[in-house]
Amino acid sequence: SFSVGVLALQGGFKEHLSAVERQAGVTGVEVRTPADLASVDALILPGGESTAQGHCIVEASMLKPLQEFAASKPVWGVCAGMILLADGLKQSEPQALVGGLHATIERNAFGRQIDSRFRSMSLQGSAAAAGVSEAAYFIRAPAVAECGEGVEVLATLPDGETAVAVRQDNLLATCFHPEISGDDSWLRFFLSTVAGRDLDEAEPHPDLTTV
Ligand code: GLN
Repeated sequence: SFSVGVLALQGGFKEHLSAVERQAGVTGVEVRTPADLASVDALILPGGESTAQGHCIVEASMLKPLQEFAASKPVWGVCAGMILLADGLKQSEPQALVGGLHATIERNAFGRQIDSRFRSMSLQGSAAAAGVSEAAYFIRAPAVAECGEGVEVLATLPDGETAVAVRQDNLLATCFHPEISGDDSWLRFFLSTVAGRDLDEAEPHPDLTTV
């Protein structure tokens, strides 16, 4: 079956593995080594702390393998994972990045932990057409400061200005965490639209109240 790896070096990878396992015809794999990575068809870079993740990636000799993987295979970066996919960061100390996503990301754009909450967003383009969830948890979340060539904005904050989900070919990146509210809609968007898998009818996702 189609195997979806979740980078399992640091951060919230368990919830993604559970979400992957909920999908029919898809297997979840914890990815920690270049050999693990070579065995999967698509990859999720989970949230956590991107500086720490960068150190872990370098330590595990995973930087180059991840860069090669992201050059052609489907990758979904969530929060810290989005930061890792970025070609550049806004006003940040240098840190190890996988890169490939032609965007500049601003870390911690919503403030500190106390500002972490469930937020509404406004869907755009193919995400609006796919009917993914319009609200999710933002946890010490980044924001997309600038998009380069080939980057489609999939969601913005209700202000319509700040992009919080983007796609560039095989790369999907979201500032928010659908996996922690048991919401599989963005995973299913990743598998169907980005990775080109045929999926069964979508399970209805839980009806969550927006704060
Ligand atoms: N603030 C974290 C960072 O900058 C990301 C937070 C998250 O992944 N939820 O790396």
